[in-house]
Amino acid sequence: MPTLYVSSRIEPLLDAAWELSQDLSDDGGWQMITPNRNAAQTLGVTAFSLQQLAQDILNIRQIKIAPPLVVHDYLKEALRQTLELQDPEGMARTWQPTVQVIFRSQPDLCLGSNSSKRAQEVFAVAQAYQKFLRSGGWIDQGELFWQAIEQQSQQKSLMIYGYFNPCPDEVAFIEAIADENSIFYLLAGESPLFAPQNTLRQRFKRNGWTERYLNNNKTTVAPPSRWLSRSFLGASGITPEPEQKPQVMAQVYANQNAEARGVLAQVKQLLHQGVLSRDMVIVAANDTEWGDRLMDIAWEYGIALRLPYTIPIAETRVGAWVKLLLEVLDQHWSFELTARFFQHPLSRGLGKNLWAQFQQSRPNNFDSWRSVILAEQNIDIAPIQLPTEALRHDWLTYFQSIFDLFQVRQQARRWAKESLAYKNWSEGLQELPELGTAAITWSQFREEMLTHLNLLQTVAGPGREGIELHNLRSIVGAQYDYVFVIDGREGNLPKPIVNDAVLDFYERQQLESQGIHLTSALESAQKETFDFYSLLQTPKKSFVFSYAKTFPRHGSYEQSEPSSYFQRLGLIPEPTSLPIIPSPEIARQVYLRRSHGDLLGTDDVLIKAIHAWQVEQQRESSGPPNEYDGVVGIPFDYETHWFSASQLTQLGQCPFKWFANKLLKLGEIEEADSELDPALKGSLYHKVLEIALGAYQQDTTINLVDNDRLMEWFQQAEKYIADEKNIDVTQFRAWEYQRQELSATLKRVMLQPDFLPESVEILALEREFKGKIEDLKVRGYIDRIDRREESLVFIDYKSGGTIPKGIKDQNGKAKIDLQLPLYKIVGGVSLYPGERVDKIMYYSLSKAKDISPRQVISETELREILEGFKQYFQTGTYPVAPDRDREACRYCSNELVCRQGDRLERKGV
Ligand code: SF4
Repeated sequence: MPTLYVSSRIEPLLDAAWELSQDLSDDGGWQMITPNRNAAQTLGVTAFSLQQLAQDILNIRQIKIAPPLVVHDYLKEALRQTLELQDPEGMARTWQPTVQVIFRSQPDLCLGSNSSKRAQEVFAVAQAYQKFLRSGGWIDQGELFWQAIEQQSQQKSLMIYGYFNPCPDEVAFIEAIADENSIFYLLAGESPLFAPQNTLRQRFKRNGWTERYLNNNKTTVAPPSRWLSRSFLGASGITPEPEQKPQVMAQVYANQNAEARGVLAQVKQLLHQGVLSRDMVIVAANDTEWGDRLMDIAWEYGIALRLPYTIPIAETRVGAWVKLLLEVLDQHWSFELTARFFQHPLSRGLGKNLWAQFQQSRPNNFDSWRSVILAEQNIDIAPIQLPTEALRHDWLTYFQSIFDLFQVRQQARRWAKESLAYKNWSEGLQELPELGTAAITWSQFREEMLTHLNLLQTVAGPGREGIELHNLRSIVGAQYDYVFVIDGREGNLPKPIVNDAVLDFYERQQLESQGIHLTSALESAQKETFDFYSLLQTPKKSFVFSYAKTFPRHGSYEQSEPSSYFQRLGLIPEPTSLPIIPSPEIARQVYLRRSHGDLLGTDDVLIKAIHAWQVEQQRESSGPPNEYDGVVGIPFDYETHWFSASQLTQLGQCPFKWFANKLLKLGEIEEADSELDPALKGSLYHKVLEIALGAYQQDTTINLVDNDRLMEWFQQAEKYIADEKNIDVTQFRAWEYQRQELSATLKRVMLQPDFLPESVEILALEREFKGKIEDLKVRGYIDRIDRREESLVFIDYKSGGTIPKGIKDQNGKAKIDLQLPLYKIVGGVSLYPGERVDKIMYYSLSKAKDISPRQVISETELREILEGFKQYFQTGTYPVAPDRDREACRYCSNELVCRQGDRLERKGV
């Protein structure tokens, strides 16, 4: 007779199973079965699950489980045909778990006619989907055990450990395949918590199984699991002797980050004490939510951490690279996207060190990218030009050639996770031809690739060794010396019971009358509690249970309460501090806050950090600016420097702006444009006007608003821009229309009587001047110089409609214009000595009118201002001091360096 061993704690079950596994270790007739690798390790046997056993049976019969992409595709088709849906892509993902639950619940898909409409729909979809699967020779994963039962021909001697809450299909499989020697270990007892297990006991008894109850306590010192189990089941009067007191701790942290740091610091301390990482485990109800955070901190602390759960390949670097590649191909190699693609770490095989080259030439289609890469790397990417249609097999060959070209496999080897992701991805791709043999278009193939990225899974954090992060179910049956259970907040542990989106609990209840049993809300809640009880069986030496007082939700933080399990275990969470300084980074934080810093002075990073910290404190204080805030104290030889009107304006608006741009040379890097930005538009306007008025100088009868002529002048200006600035504006989007708009603007300007009065004589266009004022050398270009009625008029075109912001006046407002007086005084004297400059004006091209300021400062005032500027150069003082309304900051790219903000008020700016 097969035997059922029962105990309300894992300890006796494990002892019995371990002894038996030792006795049977040389007996090849037995198969040890555990649900996970961790339980197998605890028992010291090779991991082999019921699932693998069932799969082996089906393999012999050559029955295959449908791969994820086939499942998705067939389910989509079933939904489309059965429910007449147009776009079942998203629905397939929602329905798939429900359909699998239906498959697992019973061996066939029979449903009575008096069922609800919803239930009938679900079963109809499941039946249609099953039919598609069969036509391709597949079964669904959910049918695994039922199919194995059908196909098995021989019973086996099994020792089954760790299946403490088996599903109906697992139970049926065990009954079908276990021979009379077989042994099943079940966690069960008198408590209502064990109701499903006790029902199973009755069933096994009815089917002739012998039951034995185990209750031996081999160890004298109670492990935490014994104490925790009894507390959880409500046993009263548990007061262990002090020397037998188990190590059980309840901890509370301010937030999840502190919790992760606190737990990993304890792990590090244990590692220092010689505890092996395989003897510890961290458990979170939502392990996938904690993986990244713990991984980052573990890296900082120098702890090896493994994340055994799986994630979609889309969430890996390999996935991101493939998605980017698909976008690049889809967007025809547009500049921004492709440049980003070549910057990806996995594109390093080709894109390394090419950024500057890309910026300069801005390739924007396949051919131009091809030329750049050919020129720079001597590699021809011609083979990866996109076909429009191909067989799936040929698409795969095409993509493989791209992977090879970029050496993605070799690049991915730098990270174990990415290497595995690449392997899983390329192996998974081989399933694609299963979807059909007809040729498909690029957009169809692209969709399949994207779906594939989300369906295919890979291990989130692989590795040979390290402490593992698990959820409650992935370590059932295992034991560890040290167990850390994190995120024990109410609403998370136990997990809230969520209704199925397709078949809710009410529908499930209705199906009960049809003899179809699906998990009810009550059973789900019981399962959650049972899982936690199983977890309490895990610790052998220490159990640390923690939660954080706040948790992130919808972009902010919410308060949390401790899980009711704390109270049920009689535990009161207490704040705790880091037991050790777990990383150099934390040590630096501690030293940094102490006034004496690193006493030994041996840590270079810390020395620099302390210095940076002090600089920062000074910067934020109300103290005067120092050398880190623009007051460098190094005189500047201003007499040899050529100033422009805009440089002097910058200096008068905010000295730091000029200092950062001209002395530190932090000005923005000029990038080739792909859009007509205001500066480029201004250059184009200026050039067209220069060419047009140049022609007018030659022949004053010329029609300046003639469309053909304007077109010709624009083309000459465009060519000039292409030659001088390496920007081909004709490639800009809808350039023909943009040019028409620009041309209309200039036409309107040229028709204005004040733009070109009849008596005017144009003396010069874009004329450079150089001169000296108050020992400062100044140069610039005057857009146009007219002689009007015996006097000179200087004109400066402005593309916009407002006067440019000037330097600060006495009230700190950016109101004083420097350009016009400088042009008049320095330009006038240097170009036309002895002549009178009667007028100097700003002419707005967008408004087609003179927008000169009403008042311009006098020469004396200008000289006084420039004399003041010399103080800055002589003393090397360039404080961050923008105008009151921060107009100067609006077109300044130095914000990250100057750190303007509230701090300026503290400094009295
Ligand atoms: S952002 Fe403002 S404060 Fe900073 S340098 Fe520029 S103008 Fe000065």
